Amino acid sequence: MAHPKELLERHGLQPKQSLGQNFLFDDNILARIVEAAEIAPEDAVLEIGAGVGTLTHHLARAAGRVVAVELDDRLIPLLQREIARYDNVTVVHGDILALSPDDWFGDGAYKVVANVPYYITGAILKHLLGGRSKPRVVVMTVQKEVAQRVTAGPGEMSLLAVSVQFYGEPRLVSDIKAGAFWPRPEVNSAILRIDLYDEPRLPLAEEAAFFRVVKAGFAQKRKQLQKNLRSLGLPRDEIDAALARAGIAGTRRAETLSVEEWVRLYGVLYRS
Ligand code: SAH
Repeated sequence: MAHPKELLERHGLQPKQSLGQNFLFDDNILARIVEAAEIAPEDAVLEIGAGVGTLTHHLARAAGRVVAVELDDRLIPLLQREIARYDNVTVVHGDILALSPDDWFGDGAYKVVANVPYYITGAILKHLLGGRSKPRVVVMTVQKEVAQRVTAGPGEMSLLAVSVQFYGEPRLVSDIKAGAFWPRPEVNSAILRIDLYDEPRLPLAEEAAFFRVVKAGFAQKRKQLQKNLRSLGLPRDEIDAALARAGIAGTRRAETLSVEEWVRLYGVLYRS
């Protein structure tokens, strides 16, 4: 396949920085991403930010079906042409944050594979993991620091880490050097894989309430849990009693709690 630079130039186009366009062109790296997702012929795949279709080619060859979403209207004709030879790829023009995967996959299983702009990594994860039709596996290129934050353990937890680890198990698969992208980004990248749990930790209807507790806990960085949780608007003695029942010292800080502890605390506060 032609280099993305050449493909764009042929159409008189330039990469759009405002859309986070950093294209991958190295076949080894593209193959590594597809391998990280363990794509098999029975898999349905959602590709986000298909660009000029470099990753789409690899996915089309490995998967049973690919839905490739791309926001930039300039790239749609180019992308259509690049993948015209595959009958298992559907190109969708739109903003992933305004689209719902159940339109394409219903209740069926699907995997997400994406090299997307880093400024919407968090929003995309929230949209996919918090949605009704959740993927089974997500493989995404992310800023290396984000991969490290997402995979952190108790002691270094953050709202982002809890937001991912509530749904599944994240793993940093490998680093990608900046030179693997064109244009070359300023930051280091990594392949992040998230395996979602088969059984949700809480019913979908309670996710919002759960994250209200977590957000309250993280409200002010240096403060103890017992102080931060007051922003929930519950009486102080109720919060202290809940922490005691959950077996969590109120003097601890939010970054030391595991997801299990957050779920326990939420349960004591709102479920019993
Ligand atoms: N996957 C391609 C392109 C990566 S660049 C490759 O690896 O080479 C990121 C792509 O995401 C760009 O094509 C950009 O236009 C697209 N994009 C940016 N925001 C998007 C959004 N909200 N929804 C869908 N695609 C988006």
